[in-house]
Amino acid sequence: MRLFGTSGIRMKDLDPQIAYKVGFALSQKVEDVVVARDNRTTGEMIKSALISGLLSGGSTITDIGIVPTPTLGFSTGKHQVGVMITASHNPPEYNGIKLFKRDGTPYSPEEEREIEEIILRGDFKRVDWRSVGEVLRDENAHREYRDHILKHLSISREFNVVVDCANGASAVISPYLFTDVGSHVISLNAHLDGRFVGRMPEPNRENLQETMRIVKGLNQGGGDYIGIAHDGDGDRMVAIDERGRMADFDKLLAVFSKYIVEKTGSKVIVTTVDASMSLEEFLGDGVKVIRTKVGDVAVSQALSRYGALFGGEPSGTWIHGDVHMTPDGILSGLRILEMMEYFDEKLCNLLDQVPSYVNLREKIPCEESKKSPVMKYVIEHGERVFQRSPETVDGARFNLEEGWVLIRPSGTEPCIRIRVEGKNSSVAKDLLEKSVKLVKEALSVL
Ligand code: MG
Repeated sequence: MRLFGTSGIRMKDLDPQIAYKVGFALSQKVEDVVVARDNRTTGEMIKSALISGLLSGGSTITDIGIVPTPTLGFSTGKHQVGVMITASHNPPEYNGIKLFKRDGTPYSPEEEREIEEIILRGDFKRVDWRSVGEVLRDENAHREYRDHILKHLSISREFNVVVDCANGASAVISPYLFTDVGSHVISLNAHLDGRFVGRMPEPNRENLQETMRIVKGLNQGGGDYIGIAHDGDGDRMVAIDERGRMADFDKLLAVFSKYIVEKTGSKVIVTTVDASMSLEEFLGDGVKVIRTKVGDVAVSQALSRYGALFGGEPSGTWIHGDVHMTPDGILSGLRILEMMEYFDEKLCNLLDQVPSYVNLREKIPCEESKKSPVMKYVIEHGERVFQRSPETVDGARFNLEEGWVLIRPSGTEPCIRIRVEGKNSSVAKDLLEKSVKLVKEALSVL
C-alpha cells in the first residue's frame, strides 16, 4: 500500500488513524517536530491524531496553529522536521499530510518511503509514561516569517492589489504582508472557512472567473489593480494582470526568471519538462535552464543540486531560493510587485514581452500495465519520427527546431499525455499528429 503520492499524503476523507501512524512512525526517527495545519474542517481532528502518535514515541511538538504551508516550511528551520496538515488545492472533503526538512524543502519520495516502511512493518516503540513528549506553542511563527520575507524585499512604490485567499490559510498572512509593503489591498475570500464558500481552492481559470472580473472592473476607469490568487494552503500563486487576464504560467515564469537573473546575477533557472521553450528564448544564451520531472519536489531538489535561486512549476508553484526553499505563493505575489517596480512596467506589458507559441495537448487512453512498454516504444521509435533522440527526464521530450514534444504517462489517470509546442499552429498541429500516431502505433503492436 502506498500512502504518499506526488505531494505527500492526500486523501478524500483522510482517516485520523493514518495520521496517528504517520506521527508514530516519525517519532521513531526524530525528536523535535513543528506542526501546523490549514483551516479545513477536518484539520483539528487530523492534527490531534498526528500529535498523539508523535507524543507516543516521545517527540516534542511545537504547534504553530493555522498558517500557510510556506510559513510552516520556513519555521521548520528551527526544528528537525515540519509537518503540514493540508490538502493544498483539493476540494474541502480532502485532507493530507506533507513533511518538510530543516532546509524548508519537502521530503523526497525516498524519505517518504522510509516513513511508509515503518508504518507497514508496524515497527513502533511506545515510550513509557515518563518519556511521553510534550506540546509547546510558538506564537512567534507568524511574525518571524513576516519579518524574514520583508527583510528580503525592496518595494517602495504603492501598488493596488486584489488578494484572493480562497478562504484558505493564506488569509491569516497574505493580505497583511501586502499592506506591510505599502500596497492598497482589496482582499477577497479572506476569512477562514474550511468549506471554501467563496471559491474552490484550486486557482484555475474556472475558479477565478469572478476574481478576474473584479480586477477588470476595478481598472475600467483607468485603474492599475493586479490580482494575486492563492490555493488553499498558500504555497501557490496565480497572478491576474491589469486587463483582468490570468497570467500565463510560461510567460510569468520567463519574466520572473529574467528578473532573478538581472537582480542576483544567478545564471541557472529550474523548471519542469512541460514548460514552454519561450523561457530559453526570452532569457537568451547566457542562462542555463534545468528541466526536471513534473512536480515541486523535483524542482526544489534541483535548486539545491545546481545552486539555483529560482524555480517554477506550471501549477503556479514558485520557489525563491534566495529567501527560503519552500514554495511560497505569498512571497511570489510580493515579488511581482518588486519586479514591476524594478522594470518600471505594468504586469500586462511585462507578460506581453514574452513570445507566444502554440500549445496543444491530447491524452490517449492506456491501461496502467501498458504505460511502461508504450513509453519504451516511444523512446525507441521516436527518433525515426522526429529525427532526434529524446530527453528522458520524465517521459520522452523531443526538442526540435520549431517546437517540442513531450509524451509521458499520467501519474493519476489511465492515459498517456501528449503536449506539443510549436512556433506557429501548423507546426504544433503537425507535431501533435505525429505524436498521436506514434503512441497509437505503440499501443497497436503491444
Ligand atoms: Mg498548495
